[in-house]
Amino acid sequence: MTVVEALAGSGIDVAEARILLEHASGFSRATMAAHPEYFLNDVAADAFSSAVARRRNGEPVAYLVGEREFHSLALNVTPEVLIPRPETELLVDFAIDFLPRGGTLADLGTGSGAIALSVKLQRPDASVSAVERSAAALEVARANASRHRLEIEFLHGSWFDPLAARRFDVVVSNPPYVAEGDRHLAQGDLRFEPRSALVGGVDGLDEIRKIVAAAPGHLNRGGWIAIEHGQGQDDEVRNLLGQAGLESVSSLPDLAGIARISVGKYNPE
Ligand code: GLN
Repeated sequence: MTVVEALAGSGIDVAEARILLEHASGFSRATMAAHPEYFLNDVAADAFSSAVARRRNGEPVAYLVGEREFHSLALNVTPEVLIPRPETELLVDFAIDFLPRGGTLADLGTGSGAIALSVKLQRPDASVSAVERSAAALEVARANASRHRLEIEFLHGSWFDPLAARRFDVVVSNPPYVAEGDRHLAQGDLRFEPRSALVGGVDGLDEIRKIVAAAPGHLNRGGWIAIEHGQGQDDEVRNLLGQAGLESVSSLPDLAGIARISVGKYNPE
């Protein structure tokens, strides 16, 4: 079977087929484009067919190839971690802008390490701590930090727990925020992602409530917290930030114009 035959006969989205074939064959995209007549050896052909079958069954491309690009970093991903999504880059951009020189950042529920690593890459002056409750996910994050030679402090535990009384200049989190009964959980990639990274109780806000309530005890004066949430949750998350005594509370839109992260500043009298 040739490259072009494999791609034409896959029956899946051609862009996805190219990613799977690149992974299965070791041919780069450029090689496949320039030489559609190249033959695949049996190992590559078998690997491609089995990846296509799994993709047809709904498995996310990122898990099939073990990798996803996020904010200019190629990150290892396994089914133990949420697949990094473009909208989460907003949290990275906020942290990069709001971290003072030589400041400290905590990323709560780091998963693959996407946010923590991306911030550290852009802001090597900052000290970055990444917290994760899942030991398996923490392994993935550590592997990503080694892969990109980024120095991150990793801590095992839930939200602020392993940080004891430490305070930070910026706290960021992309916590689970999907409501328990949300029909999206039965669709697309979400079916294969860890529920513990997706579901935040009946209204989706259980974990955000915990994080926001504890935030004032972990922010330096003038420090910021930025939390990702779902579409339509921004009013409630701003309320929670206000109730916790945070100031300058606002929500920022993602590229699609959806209020996607909400932020607040710790500025006690
Ligand atoms: N953004 C994800 C989704 O709705 C949810 C991620 C999360 O809960 N943190 O697909």
